[in-house]
Amino acid sequence: MITARSTELFAKAKTLMPGGVNSPVRAFGSVGREPLFIASSHGDRITDADGNEFIDFVCSWGPDILGHAHPAVTDAVRRACENGLTYGACHEGEIILAEKIQSHFPSMELMRLVNSGTEAVMSAVRAARGYTKRSKIVKFAGCYHGHSDGLLVRGGSGLLTGSIPDSAGVPAGFTESTLLAKYNDIVSVQALFERYGGDIAAVIVEPCAANMGVVPPKDGFLQALRDITAEYGALLIFDEVITGFRLSAGGAQEYYGITPDMTVLGKIVGGGMPLAAYGGKREIMEQVAPLGAVYQAGTLSGNPIATSAGIAAITAIEQTPDLYSELDRKTALLENAAKSAGLNVNRCGSLMTVFFTGTPVTDYESAVTADRTQYAHFFNYLLEKGIYAAPSQFEAMFVSYAHTDEDIAKTAEIIANYRKG
Ligand SMILES: *Cc1c(COP(=O)(O)O)cnc(C)c1O
Repeated sequence: MITARSTELFAKAKTLMPGGVNSPVRAFGSVGREPLFIASSHGDRITDADGNEFIDFVCSWGPDILGHAHPAVTDAVRRACENGLTYGACHEGEIILAEKIQSHFPSMELMRLVNSGTEAVMSAVRAARGYTKRSKIVKFAGCYHGHSDGLLVRGGSGLLTGSIPDSAGVPAGFTESTLLAKYNDIVSVQALFERYGGDIAAVIVEPCAANMGVVPPKDGFLQALRDITAEYGALLIFDEVITGFRLSAGGAQEYYGITPDMTVLGKIVGGGMPLAAYGGKREIMEQVAPLGAVYQAGTLSGNPIATSAGIAAITAIEQTPDLYSELDRKTALLENAAKSAGLNVNRCGSLMTVFFTGTPVTDYESAVTADRTQYAHFFNYLLEKGIYAAPSQFEAMFVSYAHTDEDIAKTAEIIANYRKG
């Protein structure tokens, strides 16, 4: 595989951006090679700057659930561009998108559109604190909720990949209101409520964790979180930035049948454009300005191009009745291939991770027993055979509707033939 152009671009990029990248996992730091620079993407394929083509299982970390450059989405964006790129004012697209979101997430009685998952989580947490007039937030080790200061504690994925438990540059005071619990361990949550109950504004959770690799919730875990937050008058926030529109059109809350007080969406909801949303019960969201005293704003929030992409993507999802059954069927083929090769695999719908550890992975402690060197070997084996998987042990493989049966079969065969290095 010739990667001369990517190498040249990476050298230049490093002179301009920290590590040559605009988001750390892209640097390929833990898989022992330089990143590929991508030139184009269509359907289930991405092509790098040297013309190498790959079957892509990153799918931009989730947004491309329908495949890259879905014609309905790209056409909608092209049409929207003709009417101007941004107004900084109200427009009808915001309403159409919010109505669509609400039809799938009825728990989002009132919502705000913002620009990134990080911003949406940060804003949701602020609203939760404003509403409850409490300060503490419970998060789970290994769950990622974006890079706002207060949540950069055992944040999974990018931090794990770089072996960084918590970010530098975050004063202790900024995280002292963040309480850490163990994923899938309700006893760890009970202990925090017994000690700090009256001060806990919210529990925030990835309803299926996907940022320490994929770690599904154990039976009863989400229900137990629902019960204990209700008991103590704290809010339950589902960070559905990955699971929203992925596990089902109504996200994890529909998939598992648990209704949170607040929901955060990102990734798929923007159809590949920078857009995210947060929302929840009316009386909570009424705390947000201009109705209430919780301030949150954004120059490009509800941007007409991004909303047009989100509307088109959700519409296409609605018009694909076999979307979730197909995603499930295709991903199960990859899961079975991994199992036949003797690999340890976790799967939740169209999210899956092969963990290079002998222990079942159910939380952060078990996830970090995975061997990154072995993962790097697996990653490079796949890449050399034309398959682009996440360049980190602690991320998911994302399957899209555009993955053809041929490409799934080819990938399954390559995975099934994998021998550990
Ligand atoms: C990606 C992600 C975020 C952050 O979203 P950005 O758009 O990258 O800021 C937050 N929470 C979860 C669960 C995510 O996967």
